[in-house]
Amino acid sequence: MSAIGDLIQDSRKIVIKIGSNVLSDDEGFVNKETLHNIVEQVAGLYREGKQVIIVSSGAGICGVAAINKWSRRGDINYKQALCAIGQVELMNAYKEYFADYELHVGQMLLTREDFGDHIRTLNIRNTLFTLVDEGVIPIINENDSVSVDEIKIGDNDTLGALTANLWNADLLIILSDIDGVFDKNPKDHKDAELIEEVYDIDGLLTEIDSRGTSAFGTGGIVTKIQAARRVNEYGISMLLVNGKKKDILVNAINGTEKGTIFFCQGR
Ligand code: ADP
Repeated sequence: MSAIGDLIQDSRKIVIKIGSNVLSDDEGFVNKETLHNIVEQVAGLYREGKQVIIVSSGAGICGVAAINKWSRRGDINYKQALCAIGQVELMNAYKEYFADYELHVGQMLLTREDFGDHIRTLNIRNTLFTLVDEGVIPIINENDSVSVDEIKIGDNDTLGALTANLWNADLLIILSDIDGVFDKNPKDHKDAELIEEVYDIDGLLTEIDSRGTSAFGTGGIVTKIQAARRVNEYGISMLLVNGKKKDILVNAINGTEKGTIFFCQGR
């Protein structure tokens, strides 16, 4: 089995973050085939005895797809309105696809304040543990319609990391539109090389060129590396793989696809 296969086999509690670029097609609409394929793989992990929490982006693009207007509006209230509309669409899709595997989903919309306050944190933990213990798949997103800059977590890579730490996960998997961390942005450089294993994040940051984010994502590669740092500090490893590729988790486990593993100390 591959290093990724070993990592996933050794992990029981897994947080999977799905980026908006993974869920969007070239026109900026929702790629339902990809979403369905990811749900199928999560259901497979569940059948193998894993517990899974999903952190999903994509409300904005689902909103545009649903009402087919405002996509170019920059004003924050319209962006938030699109997310409010799209969140329903997104959850409907998850609900429908997970139902194919007889699994229920539960939605949790969080803000930064929820992680800073002891009582709120406790409540989130309790809800998450209850959902997971009862075999329901929690699907988390930032509560965009109440999140203005001052109270924003800002990107779902960070939200995924905060969730993994809060739940004491064994592994955070980030599904992005890129095969992993490269020494430079592969979208601009054909000769970019994939870094498969990271043990020293400070060292990595001095080695790579991380400029450039893509059309729909908010974080870029830097927030993914910061997420790795956050979870590694809590003894949790992180895996970054390309969620746009069909059966990515299955193939990464059997070694036909690659990714970047950020190993926490002691692994
Ligand atoms: P997501 O929507 O999945 O969160 P982002 O667009 O925010 O994805 O971030 C991933 C993007 O970061 C990649 O598509 C790539 O264009 C860019 N990037 C910049 N530098 C690098 C690098 N060194 N290695 C990998 N990706 C990089």
